Amino acid sequence: MNGNRGPVFHFLTGSQHLYGEEALRQVETHSREIANYLSARLPFKLLFVPVVKTHGEILDACRRAQADSCCAGVITWMHTFSPSKMWIGGLKALSLPVLHLHTQYNAEIPFDGIDMDFMNINQSAHGDREHGYIFARMGKARKIAVGHYKDDALAAKIASWMRVAAAALFAKELKVMRLGDNMRDVAVTEGDKVEAQIRFGWQVNYRAVGELAEHVSAVGEAEVAGLMGEYADKYIMNTQDTAAVRYQAKLELGLKTLLDAHGCGAFTNTFEDLHGLEQLPGLASQRLMEQGYGFGPEGDWKVSALLATIKHLTANKGTTLMEDYTYHLSPGHEAILGAHMLEVCPTIAEHKPKIEVHPLGIGGKNPPARLVFNGKPGKAVCVSLVDMGGRLRLIVLDVQAIEIPFAMPRLPVARVMWKPEPDFFIGCEAWLLAGGAHHTVLSYDTNAEEMADLAEIIGIECVHIGKGTDIAALGRELRMGNLLWAGR
Ligand code: MN
Repeated sequence: MNGNRGPVFHFLTGSQHLYGEEALRQVETHSREIANYLSARLPFKLLFVPVVKTHGEILDACRRAQADSCCAGVITWMHTFSPSKMWIGGLKALSLPVLHLHTQYNAEIPFDGIDMDFMNINQSAHGDREHGYIFARMGKARKIAVGHYKDDALAAKIASWMRVAAAALFAKELKVMRLGDNMRDVAVTEGDKVEAQIRFGWQVNYRAVGELAEHVSAVGEAEVAGLMGEYADKYIMNTQDTAAVRYQAKLELGLKTLLDAHGCGAFTNTFEDLHGLEQLPGLASQRLMEQGYGFGPEGDWKVSALLATIKHLTANKGTTLMEDYTYHLSPGHEAILGAHMLEVCPTIAEHKPKIEVHPLGIGGKNPPARLVFNGKPGKAVCVSLVDMGGRLRLIVLDVQAIEIPFAMPRLPVARVMWKPEPDFFIGCEAWLLAGGAHHTVLSYDTNAEEMADLAEIIGIECVHIGKGTDIAALGRELRMGNLLWAGR
């Protein structure tokens, strides 16, 4: 993809020659006005395409969008009636994400002046129905956004879908570096890397841990000193063991050099394979996540790639690797305490993180430096990607992160507490029923609708657990899903 400009979205307006040249000029004027108005309010540029009126023009416009490596998606709108048999060839040529915009130029009907000329031009109400039918008839995935084009809620909906489509475009080029294999005997971190590449585009490949060790050894003292200065500015140095912190600085620099040399935006490691390293990367992995890299512990490449993809979607705000660790089961106050051995991303921190050094207890290496902080309160989602055998399932749980009521002075890791929706009991039961993993992406800056849009674009199953979740209905949905998604 051309790195000089961000993704763009092509804006296609459908019509036909029936209305005459004057009417078509008016359609084009209205359509340009709408595209310009929206483009100024959306996170990515809309590229206006002259009104398409024939099978050939539609096919050509769809082929041009598809051939544009910077195009993340197509928005279609029928200002007038555009007979949809003319769209079949074009839509078949289009595998990009599509948003069907169902809007209208006028906000209100001009009751005093309305005549048949007005009726002949302002026909989205039935032109878009013809358009909706052909998507449905062809079984083509698309997002539908309804409302007047000047309505802020409509722009917000389109913006949200655009960010998802741009993340899907990013995923197509994402490379994930696996340093070491998956943790021995663990099931849920396994998966079909070929299927993941077919769906998301993620390229997941292995590199020897020894190669990382060489890069870490090659890091110069001046570079380490520079990074230690940055640590001192950004965090509270709450340790005397600066040698341990310096080693994490070397790990961060060595990892970054290795990742960048291979064009990787995400990585995994495992405490079971740290040959040639003195510590498990803790602070180093946290720092790289803070810079937007995906990370998965214990060889979990699915969570690493998903984290990088959701970090792209959220512009790297409030998004981290997370693990459900232990429960608070005090009646009426049930909550989940989430953390990891070390690796939680500081983009979710409530306050300035502290750098501390403590023994790990597993892995047989030196005590690693890590960032310690509390996660902020607020609405968030926990997202898990699991392999169901030949297909992938995305599971999204709505949660409410809470102010952590206890200091936990002897727990030297970053931590978050949250309550799942619709409540602790149904939320946990539903998660287990769907097969959700212990590793998740926790994000305060995306939501269930965006995750469902992502799954729709990628072409995988999405299970949402939230306010309306009912266990019996979920059980039926999952059994139906097994049938619907088998062999796709
Ligand atoms: Mn873990």
